[in-house]
Amino acid sequence: RAAKSAGTGQWLRYEPSMSDQTHQAELRTSLGRAIAEQALFLEYQPIVALGTGRTVGFEALLRWRHPGRGRLLPGEFIEIAEESRLILPIGEWVLEAAMRAAQRWRAAAQERAPYVSVNVSAHQFRSEGFADSVARLLDLTGLPAHRLVLEITESSLLRDDDKVWHALERLRGGGVRIAIDDFGTGYSALGYLRQVPLDIVKLDRLFVRGLTTSRRQRDLVEGIVTLTRALSLDIVAEGIETEHQRRTADAAGCTYGQGYLFAAPLPEDQTLRWLDGEQPAPPA
Ligand code: C2E
Ligand code: MG
Ligand code: MG
Ligand code: MG
Repeated sequence: RAAKSAGTGQWLRYEPSMSDQTHQAELRTSLGRAIAEQALFLEYQPIVALGTGRTVGFEALLRWRHPGRGRLLPGEFIEIAEESRLILPIGEWVLEAAMRAAQRWRAAAQERAPYVSVNVSAHQFRSEGFADSVARLLDLTGLPAHRLVLEITESSLLRDDDKVWHALERLRGGGVRIAIDDFGTGYSALGYLRQVPLDIVKLDRLFVRGLTTSRRQRDLVEGIVTLTRALSLDIVAEGIETEHQRRTADAAGCTYGQGYLFAAPLPEDQTLRWLDGEQPAPPA
């Protein structure tokens, strides 16, 4: 659109959303170069056993060192990555980087080594040959399949897509575990858990917050826990920020938890130190 500026007779551009569009376009362009420029990196957030405090896994979380804007979180660019299909090469990069990190934990911590949990978007699960490419990366990195968890959000499962379903079954057949992420934020009936090929339920942090504030939420979580037990699924409570939330989640039957109370997402070089610090002190 254009507006005639008063008095001068000149046409000026008048586009309120322009800077926004430019911003998006710029992000898309630089995101396309981010892998080659080594501007993507991962942080790792501990997943701990609520009973003992032991770290059983790390969730890999993507960050982008943007040339002009500094460090960006996934909320600022994942959607753009999905719309532009850049999520496919980026997702592959994430998988390989996360598997290599998990191999380093194995070398350092051996049988106590944590698994790595990787967020995978529905586009990836639906893309041709996704299960094969995961198998190829496991082969390439040497990571045993049971040390890898793939997280899929409830909303991408709800699309009830044959391709997604098929990929999940093939991956699980190969020993990879599948987690449903942000569980409880969608609108699926609990009974849905019976049908999906799954291993782990990650209870969304809104639920965790509700645990300490609402009797109804606590009953609901206890119901979910009972069902996940019956189905032999593990449960991870997300976003635990307070000791009160930790205790309540533990009491409600959640076995594992994740959140700022334990640790924020850590740069990779701090993960080994984190694991070290956890080793029981040698007997005096
Ligand atoms: P998510 O998978 O549910 O990841 C957990 C998010 O909660 C992370 O945000 C983490 O930093 C944050 N968090 C952890 N503990 C706490 C806590 O105690 N309190 C609060 N308020 N927040 C906490 P982050 O890193 O910004 O990631 C946001 C989302 O971006 C992730 O949600 C995931 O859906 C997506 N994402 C991250 N990495 C990737 C990736 O490699 N691929 C894809 N497709 N999506 C990714
Ligand atoms: Mg996740
Ligand atoms: Mg989550
Ligand atoms: Mg979440």
